[in-house]
Amino acid sequence: MILVTGGAGYIGSHTVLALREAGHEVVVLDNLSRGHRDLVFSDHFEEGDLQNFPFLDSVFTKYSIRAVVHFAASSLVGESMKDPESYYYNNICGTLNLLRAMRKNRVMRLVFSSTAAVYGEPAVIPIMEDYPLEPTNVYGETKVAIENMLSRYHTAYGLNSISFRYFNAAGADPDGRAGEDHTPETHLIPLVLDVALGKRKNITIFGNDYPTEDGTCIRDYIHVSDLARAHVLGLERLLDGMKGKFAFNLGNGRGYSVLDILQRSRDVTGRDIPSVMGQRREGDPPILVASSGKAESFLGWRRQYPDIIDIIRTAWDWHLHRFG
Ligand code: UDP
Repeated sequence: MILVTGGAGYIGSHTVLALREAGHEVVVLDNLSRGHRDLVFSDHFEEGDLQNFPFLDSVFTKYSIRAVVHFAASSLVGESMKDPESYYYNNICGTLNLLRAMRKNRVMRLVFSSTAAVYGEPAVIPIMEDYPLEPTNVYGETKVAIENMLSRYHTAYGLNSISFRYFNAAGADPDGRAGEDHTPETHLIPLVLDVALGKRKNITIFGNDYPTEDGTCIRDYIHVSDLARAHVLGLERLLDGMKGKFAFNLGNGRGYSVLDILQRSRDVTGRDIPSVMGQRREGDPPILVASSGKAESFLGWRRQYPDIIDIIRTAWDWHLHRFG
């Protein structure tokens, strides 16, 4: 049995689907603060919080868990700057509790959900895993703190782990079973699709005075189902006995500006998507593009949906079905 924390969330739910398709049995643990009960794709569901150690311990006693895939966390950059304490508490203390429960129950394999935010504003693109970790926001800081914990846990206790540093997760399950559903929604593509649906009047572009070709920020959008499959590959390496603390970038290796995304969303939806120019958003680096060569060569990871049109189309199908 594989324990997936945060398995009712966006990337978690897609990963549960991918794990089940690969033949793994899954138990989902989620407090449903941001996740959705109808996105739990397993008969084994434990509702509860990582802060509750007796509850965590009871989950490890109830199931025979071989490894953990850990998504449960707070993940909004802006919110993390306004309320750092809740981010330290949820992310760092929550993970520490999970690691304590794992160690107590002798489960020594972990796949961890990290982020490109660990790099801050890197000077050189594409970003490699050995670039300095210099986060510029509290959210990124919590993920660096946890990655450091995982290194120490490896040296001191023999915990084996893989941290995946995601770039911009986007798109939805091509079969329409899962997709993005955040409250509040802050991400570009679902907000743009809300405008296409007529649920919002327009999209605000956060600044057009960046040092990029069209002046808007460039990001590396990666299909959520491709992210999910990377987790399966990583997990299977750990189950095969791979030892150590590893970190891999997961991106497409190609950047799109905010204006690119807007234009392609108009193409995919065939709808009018009005935009207004706004101020820069604090802490937004101009360009983030990944090198994912390490995940490709080390894990044999191959992207199935590298095309931005497929990413936006699957997101649009989901959006129409869920919110239309
Ligand atoms: N963005 C924007 N308007 C919005 C939301 C996002 O212009 O309403 C821009 C944001 O500045 C960034 C890109 O879209 O350059 C992707 O932002 P998102 O919040 O989706 O992901 P992030 O890059 O912050 O992880």
